Amino acid sequence: MSPRFLQIQNFPVLHWIFSSLIEDAVSICLIFPRILELFKILLDDALNASISLVHFSAVMDYSSGEASDISDSDIEDYEAKSYSHLTTRKLKVKISEGIYRCPFCLGKKKQDYQYKDLLQHATGVGASNNRRAKLKATHLALSKFLKNDLVDSAGPSLQLMVVEPPKPKEDKFVWPWMGVIVNIPTELVNGKYVGESGTRLKEQLSRFNPVKVHTLWTPRGHTGTAIVDFNKDWIGFKDAMAFENHFESERFGKKDWYRSTHHQFDIYGWIAKADDYESVGPIGEHLRKNGDLKTVSDLSNEEHRKKDKLVANLANEIEVKNKHLHELEFKYNQTSLSLDNMMAEKDRLQQAHNRGNLLI
Ligand SMILES: [Zn+2]
Repeated sequence: MSPRFLQIQNFPVLHWIFSSLIEDAVSICLIFPRILELFKILLDDALNASISLVHFSAVMDYSSGEASDISDSDIEDYEAKSYSHLTTRKLKVKISEGIYRCPFCLGKKKQDYQYKDLLQHATGVGASNNRRAKLKATHLALSKFLKNDLVDSAGPSLQLMVVEPPKPKEDKFVWPWMGVIVNIPTELVNGKYVGESGTRLKEQLSRFNPVKVHTLWTPRGHTGTAIVDFNKDWIGFKDAMAFENHFESERFGKKDWYRSTHHQFDIYGWIAKADDYESVGPIGEHLRKNGDLKTVSDLSNEEHRKKDKLVANLANEIEVKNKHLHELEFKYNQTSLSLDNMMAEKDRLQQAHNRGNLLI
Protein backbone atom coordinates (compact mmCIF):
# COMPACT_ATOMS: atom_id res chain seq x y z
CA MET A 1 0.00 0.00 0.00
CA SER A 2 1.41 3.26 -1.07
CA PRO A 3 1.85 5.72 1.73
CA ARG A 4 -0.90 8.19 1.85
CA PHE A 5 0.29 11.72 1.93
CA LEU A 6 -1.73 14.33 3.55
CA GLN A 7 -3.61 16.00 0.76
CA ILE A 8 -4.81 19.37 1.78
CA GLN A 9 -7.36 19.43 -0.96
CA ASN A 10 -9.13 16.80 1.03
CA PHE A 11 -9.79 19.33 3.80
CA PRO A 12 -11.75 22.19 2.18
CA VAL A 13 -11.68 24.57 5.15
CA LEU A 14 -7.97 24.19 5.70
CA HIS A 15 -7.41 24.55 1.98
CA TRP A 16 -9.30 27.83 1.96
CA ILE A 17 -7.33 29.17 4.96
CA PHE A 18 -4.00 28.22 3.44
CA SER A 19 -4.70 29.57 0.03
CA SER A 20 -5.94 32.87 1.51
CA LEU A 21 -2.76 33.19 3.56
CA ILE A 22 -0.62 32.49 0.54
CA GLU A 23 -2.51 35.01 -1.54
CA ASP A 24 -2.07 37.66 1.18
CA ALA A 25 1.62 36.88 1.47
CA VAL A 26 2.03 37.23 -2.26
CA SER A 27 0.11 40.49 -2.21
CA ILE A 28 2.21 41.83 0.66
CA CYS A 29 5.37 40.82 -1.13
CA LEU A 30 4.13 42.57 -4.22
CA ILE A 31 2.98 45.69 -2.37
CA PHE A 32 5.95 46.01 -0.05
CA PRO A 33 8.37 47.47 -2.62
CA ARG A 34 5.65 49.90 -3.69
CA ILE A 35 5.23 51.00 -0.05
CA LEU A 36 8.98 51.42 0.21
CA GLU A 37 8.97 53.43 -2.95
CA LEU A 38 6.20 55.65 -1.60
CA PHE A 39 8.16 56.20 1.59
CA LYS A 40 11.19 57.12 -0.44
CA ILE A 41 9.17 59.66 -2.48
CA LEU A 42 7.74 61.15 0.69
CA LEU A 43 11.20 61.38 2.19
CA ASP A 44 12.60 62.97 -0.96
CA ASP A 45 9.76 65.47 -1.02
CA ALA A 46 10.37 66.33 2.58
CA LEU A 47 14.05 66.83 1.88
CA ASN A 48 13.50 68.74 -1.31
CA ALA A 49 11.04 71.11 0.20
CA SER A 50 13.24 71.44 3.28
CA ILE A 51 10.26 70.84 5.43
CA SER A 52 12.30 70.32 8.49
CA LEU A 53 10.53 70.76 11.76
CA VAL A 54 12.32 74.05 12.32
CA HIS A 55 11.27 75.31 8.96
CA PHE A 56 7.75 74.18 9.58
CA SER A 57 7.63 75.91 12.91
CA ALA A 58 9.04 79.08 11.37
CA VAL A 59 6.42 79.04 8.63
CA MET A 60 3.71 78.36 11.17
CA ASP A 61 5.02 81.21 13.22
CA TYR A 62 4.42 83.68 10.38
CA SER A 63 1.17 82.29 9.12
CA SER A 64 -0.40 81.86 12.55
CA GLY A 65 0.81 85.30 13.51
CA GLU A 66 -1.72 86.88 11.19
CA ALA A 67 -4.32 87.31 13.85
CA SER A 68 -2.08 88.90 16.41
CA ASP A 69 -0.32 91.88 14.93
CA ILE A 70 2.58 93.73 16.49
CA SER A 71 2.78 97.39 17.37
CA ASP A 72 4.65 99.81 15.14
CA SER A 73 7.41 100.15 17.69
CA ASP A 74 8.15 96.42 17.38
CA ILE A 75 8.59 96.48 13.62
CA GLU A 76 12.35 96.77 13.87
CA ASP A 77 12.71 93.79 16.23
CA TYR A 78 10.36 91.70 14.19
CA GLU A 79 12.20 92.62 11.03
CA ALA A 80 15.50 91.52 12.60
CA LYS A 81 13.95 88.24 13.70
CA SER A 82 12.51 87.58 10.27
CA TYR A 83 15.80 88.51 8.66
CA SER A 84 17.66 85.98 10.80
CA HIS A 85 15.16 83.31 9.78
CA LEU A 86 15.95 84.13 6.18
CA THR A 87 19.72 84.20 6.55
CA THR A 88 19.79 80.93 8.47
CA ARG A 89 17.63 79.50 5.69
CA LYS A 90 14.87 78.53 8.07
CA LEU A 91 12.69 80.18 5.52
CA LYS A 92 13.26 79.37 1.92
CA VAL A 93 13.14 82.09 -0.69
CA LYS A 94 15.01 80.67 -3.66
CA ILE A 95 13.17 77.64 -5.00
CA SER A 96 15.35 76.94 -7.98
CA GLU A 97 17.48 78.81 -10.51
CA GLY A 98 15.60 81.99 -11.33
CA ILE A 99 12.49 81.12 -9.28
CA TYR A 100 11.78 82.73 -5.94
CA ARG A 101 8.87 82.89 -3.55
CA CYS A 102 7.71 85.06 -0.68
CA PRO A 103 7.80 82.92 2.48
CA PHE A 104 5.53 85.40 4.23
CA CYS A 105 2.69 85.21 1.75
CA LEU A 106 2.57 81.44 1.35
CA GLY A 107 -0.65 80.22 -0.14
CA LYS A 108 -1.86 83.71 -0.87
CA LYS A 109 -0.49 84.77 -4.16
CA LYS A 110 1.31 83.36 -7.11
CA GLN A 111 4.53 81.94 -5.90
CA ASP A 112 6.94 81.81 -8.79
CA TYR A 113 8.52 85.20 -8.74
CA GLN A 114 11.58 86.30 -10.61
CA TYR A 115 14.16 87.99 -8.46
CA LYS A 116 13.22 91.52 -9.49
CA ASP A 117 9.50 90.87 -9.08
CA LEU A 118 9.97 89.46 -5.61
CA LEU A 119 12.16 92.40 -4.69
CA GLN A 120 9.47 94.71 -5.97
CA HIS A 121 6.83 92.81 -3.98
CA ALA A 122 8.91 92.91 -0.80
CA THR A 123 9.79 96.58 -1.17
CA GLY A 124 6.22 97.49 -2.03
CA VAL A 125 4.63 95.72 0.94
CA GLY A 126 7.42 96.90 3.23
CA ALA A 127 6.88 100.52 2.27
CA SER A 128 3.09 100.64 2.25
CA ASN A 129 1.43 102.40 5.11
CA ASN A 130 -1.85 100.57 5.11
CA ARG A 131 -0.48 97.09 5.83
CA ARG A 132 -0.27 95.27 9.11
CA ALA A 133 2.90 96.04 11.03
CA LYS A 134 3.93 92.38 11.01
CA LEU A 135 3.53 92.12 7.25
CA LYS A 136 5.57 95.27 6.80
CA ALA A 137 8.32 93.99 9.08
CA THR A 138 8.62 90.62 7.35
CA HIS A 139 8.71 92.18 3.91
CA LEU A 140 11.28 94.74 4.96
CA ALA A 141 13.40 91.82 6.11
CA LEU A 142 12.81 90.02 2.83
CA SER A 143 13.81 93.02 0.78
CA LYS A 144 16.97 93.41 2.87
CA PHE A 145 17.73 89.71 2.47
CA LEU A 146 17.22 89.84 -1.30
CA LYS A 147 19.47 92.85 -1.64
CA ASN A 148 22.19 91.76 0.80
CA ASP A 149 22.27 88.00 0.65
CA LEU A 150 20.76 86.85 -2.60
CA VAL A 151 22.14 89.46 -4.88
CA ASP A 152 24.87 87.24 -6.31
CA SER A 153 22.54 84.35 -6.94
CA ALA A 154 20.15 86.53 -8.86
CA GLY A 155 22.38 86.12 -11.87
CA PRO A 156 22.47 88.28 -14.95
CA SER A 157 18.81 89.23 -14.71
CA LEU A 158 19.81 91.52 -11.88
CA GLN A 159 21.78 93.65 -14.27
CA LEU A 160 18.60 94.22 -16.20
CA MET A 161 16.53 95.15 -13.21
CA VAL A 162 19.00 97.53 -11.61
CA VAL A 163 16.99 100.40 -10.26
CA GLU A 164 17.45 103.46 -12.42
CA PRO A 165 19.87 105.86 -10.82
CA PRO A 166 18.00 108.88 -9.52
CA LYS A 167 18.06 111.70 -12.04
CA PRO A 168 20.64 114.27 -11.07
CA LYS A 169 18.90 117.34 -9.84
CA GLU A 170 18.80 119.95 -12.54
CA ASP A 171 20.93 123.03 -11.93
CA LYS A 172 19.01 126.21 -11.34
CA PHE A 173 20.56 129.18 -13.08
CA VAL A 174 19.89 132.82 -12.60
CA TRP A 175 17.84 134.08 -15.51
CA PRO A 176 18.69 136.27 -17.42
CA TRP A 177 22.07 134.55 -17.47
CA MET A 178 24.55 136.23 -15.14
CA GLY A 179 28.11 135.65 -14.06
CA VAL A 180 29.66 136.34 -10.67
CA ILE A 181 33.11 137.91 -10.35
CA VAL A 182 34.95 138.12 -7.05
CA ASN A 183 38.40 139.15 -5.82
CA ILE A 184 38.58 142.29 -7.93
CA PRO A 185 41.54 144.24 -6.52
CA THR A 186 40.42 147.25 -4.46
CA GLU A 187 42.25 149.83 -2.44
CA LEU A 188 41.31 152.17 0.35
CA VAL A 189 41.26 155.79 -0.78
CA ASN A 190 40.06 158.47 1.63
CA GLY A 191 38.28 155.90 3.79
CA LYS A 192 36.46 154.24 0.91
CA TYR A 193 37.34 151.26 -1.22
CA VAL A 194 37.82 151.85 -4.90
CA GLY A 195 38.45 149.34 -7.64
CA GLU A 196 38.13 148.56 -11.29
CA SER A 197 35.06 149.87 -13.11
CA GLY A 198 32.43 147.76 -14.80
CA THR A 199 33.47 149.10 -18.20
CA ARG A 200 37.08 147.99 -17.73
CA LEU A 201 35.96 144.55 -16.61
CA LYS A 202 33.63 144.33 -19.59
CA GLU A 203 36.58 144.95 -21.89
CA GLN A 204 38.63 142.29 -20.13
CA LEU A 205 35.82 139.78 -20.59
CA SER A 206 34.96 140.84 -24.13
CA ARG A 207 35.48 137.34 -25.57
CA PHE A 208 32.44 136.15 -23.57
CA ASN A 209 30.30 138.94 -25.08
CA PRO A 210 29.02 140.43 -21.83
CA VAL A 211 26.16 142.91 -22.20
CA LYS A 212 27.08 144.80 -19.06
CA VAL A 213 29.21 144.42 -15.94
CA HIS A 214 27.86 145.84 -12.66
CA THR A 215 30.41 146.35 -9.90
CA LEU A 216 28.78 145.98 -6.49
CA TRP A 217 29.08 148.77 -3.99
CA THR A 218 28.17 149.22 -0.34
CA PRO A 219 28.49 152.39 1.79
CA ARG A 220 32.10 151.32 2.41
CA GLY A 221 32.83 151.40 -1.30
CA HIS A 222 33.71 148.83 -3.96
CA THR A 223 33.08 145.30 -2.68
CA GLY A 224 35.56 143.69 -5.04
CA THR A 225 32.67 141.80 -6.62
CA ALA A 226 30.71 142.26 -9.83
CA ILE A 227 27.88 140.73 -11.80
CA VAL A 228 28.14 140.12 -15.54
CA ASP A 229 24.98 140.26 -17.67
CA PHE A 230 24.88 137.99 -20.70
CA ASN A 231 22.45 138.01 -23.62
CA LYS A 232 18.98 136.68 -22.80
CA ASP A 233 19.11 133.83 -25.29
CA TRP A 234 20.88 130.51 -25.86
CA ILE A 235 23.89 132.30 -27.31
CA GLY A 236 24.07 134.20 -24.02
CA PHE A 237 23.93 130.89 -22.17
CA LYS A 238 26.76 129.53 -24.32
CA ASP A 239 28.82 132.65 -23.51
CA ALA A 240 28.06 132.34 -19.80
CA MET A 241 29.11 128.67 -19.83
CA ALA A 242 32.29 129.53 -21.72
CA PHE A 243 32.97 132.19 -19.05
CA GLU A 244 32.45 129.56 -16.31
CA ASN A 245 34.63 126.96 -18.04
CA HIS A 246 37.42 129.43 -18.66
CA PHE A 247 37.73 130.32 -14.97
CA GLU A 248 37.36 126.71 -13.91
CA SER A 249 40.11 125.51 -16.24
CA GLU A 250 42.42 128.23 -14.93
CA ARG A 251 41.62 127.12 -11.35
CA PHE A 252 39.86 130.40 -10.73
CA GLY A 253 36.39 128.89 -10.57
CA LYS A 254 33.79 128.75 -7.85
CA LYS A 255 35.19 125.61 -6.21
CA ASP A 256 38.67 127.10 -6.12
CA TRP A 257 37.31 130.26 -4.54
CA TYR A 258 35.45 128.44 -1.78
CA ARG A 259 38.01 125.69 -1.26
CA SER A 260 40.80 127.77 0.21
CA THR A 261 41.23 131.03 2.02
CA HIS A 262 44.56 131.74 0.31
CA HIS A 263 43.43 133.27 -2.92
CA GLN A 264 45.57 134.12 -5.88
CA PHE A 265 45.87 137.71 -6.87
CA ASP A 266 43.37 137.71 -9.72
CA ILE A 267 39.65 137.60 -10.33
CA TYR A 268 37.56 134.44 -9.90
CA GLY A 269 34.38 133.89 -11.87
CA TRP A 270 31.46 131.54 -12.41
CA ILE A 271 27.95 131.40 -13.79
CA ALA A 272 25.35 132.50 -11.22
CA LYS A 273 23.26 129.63 -9.83
CA ALA A 274 20.78 129.01 -7.02
CA ASP A 275 23.33 129.14 -4.19
CA ASP A 276 24.61 132.54 -5.33
CA TYR A 277 21.04 133.74 -5.74
CA GLU A 278 20.15 132.70 -2.22
CA SER A 279 23.40 133.95 -0.67
CA VAL A 280 23.58 136.70 1.92
CA GLY A 281 25.32 139.91 0.87
CA PRO A 282 25.55 142.20 -2.16
CA ILE A 283 25.85 139.38 -4.74
CA GLY A 284 22.67 137.62 -3.59
CA GLU A 285 20.86 140.92 -3.25
CA HIS A 286 21.75 141.99 -6.79
CA LEU A 287 20.79 138.61 -8.28
CA ARG A 288 17.45 138.47 -6.46
CA LYS A 289 16.64 142.01 -7.53
CA ASN A 290 17.46 141.45 -11.20
CA GLY A 291 16.77 137.82 -11.95
CA ASP A 292 14.88 134.61 -11.32
CA LEU A 293 15.94 131.02 -10.86
CA LYS A 294 15.26 128.74 -13.81
CA THR A 295 16.41 125.38 -15.06
CA VAL A 296 17.39 124.91 -18.66
CA SER A 297 14.30 122.74 -19.21
CA ASP A 298 12.08 125.43 -17.65
CA LEU A 299 13.36 127.82 -20.26
CA SER A 300 13.09 125.50 -23.23
CA ASN A 301 9.55 124.54 -22.15
CA GLU A 302 8.70 128.22 -21.92
CA GLU A 303 10.16 128.75 -25.35
CA HIS A 304 8.04 125.93 -26.76
CA ARG A 305 4.97 127.40 -25.16
CA LYS A 306 5.80 130.78 -26.66
CA LYS A 307 6.31 129.23 -30.10
CA ASP A 308 3.01 127.37 -29.83
CA LYS A 309 1.31 130.58 -28.83
CA LEU A 310 2.90 132.40 -31.76
CA VAL A 311 1.70 129.72 -34.18
CA ALA A 312 -1.78 129.93 -32.66
CA ASN A 313 -1.74 133.71 -33.00
CA LEU A 314 -0.62 133.49 -36.63
CA ALA A 315 -3.33 130.94 -37.38
CA ASN A 316 -5.84 133.26 -35.79
CA GLU A 317 -4.59 136.18 -37.85
CA ILE A 318 -4.83 134.15 -41.05
CA GLU A 319 -8.39 133.25 -40.16
CA VAL A 320 -9.28 136.90 -39.61
CA LYS A 321 -7.65 137.85 -42.93
CA ASN A 322 -9.52 135.06 -44.70
CA LYS A 323 -12.77 136.28 -43.26
CA HIS A 324 -12.00 139.80 -44.42
CA LEU A 325 -11.10 138.46 -47.86
CA HIS A 326 -14.43 136.65 -48.09
CA GLU A 327 -16.22 139.83 -47.13
CA LEU A 328 -14.35 141.74 -49.83
CA GLU A 329 -15.17 139.02 -52.32
CA PHE A 330 -18.85 139.24 -51.40
CA LYS A 331 -18.82 143.02 -51.73
CA TYR A 332 -17.05 142.76 -55.06
CA ASN A 333 -19.65 140.31 -56.34
CA GLN A 334 -22.42 142.55 -55.18
CA THR A 335 -20.84 145.57 -56.86
CA SER A 336 -20.15 143.75 -60.08
CA LEU A 337 -23.73 142.44 -60.05
CA SER A 338 -25.11 145.93 -59.71
CA LEU A 339 -22.65 147.10 -62.33
CA ASP A 340 -23.95 144.39 -64.68
CA ASN A 341 -27.47 145.51 -63.94
CA MET A 342 -26.54 149.09 -64.65
CA MET A 343 -24.87 148.12 -67.91
CA ALA A 344 -27.95 146.14 -68.94
CA GLU A 345 -30.15 149.06 -68.05
CA LYS A 346 -27.88 151.37 -70.02
CA ASP A 347 -28.06 149.03 -73.04
CA ARG A 348 -31.81 148.88 -72.71
CA LEU A 349 -32.05 152.67 -72.58
CA GLN A 350 -29.67 153.00 -75.49
CA GLN A 351 -31.73 150.59 -77.56
CA ALA A 352 -34.94 152.40 -76.62
CA HIS A 353 -33.29 155.66 -77.55
CA ASN A 354 -32.11 154.27 -80.89
CA ARG A 355 -35.56 152.86 -81.59
CA GLY A 356 -37.00 156.33 -80.81
CA ASN A 357 -34.55 157.93 -83.20
CA LEU A 358 -35.53 155.48 -85.95
CA LEU A 359 -39.18 156.28 -85.46
CA ILE A 360 -38.65 159.98 -85.86
ZN1 LIG B 1 4.87 88.57 0.54
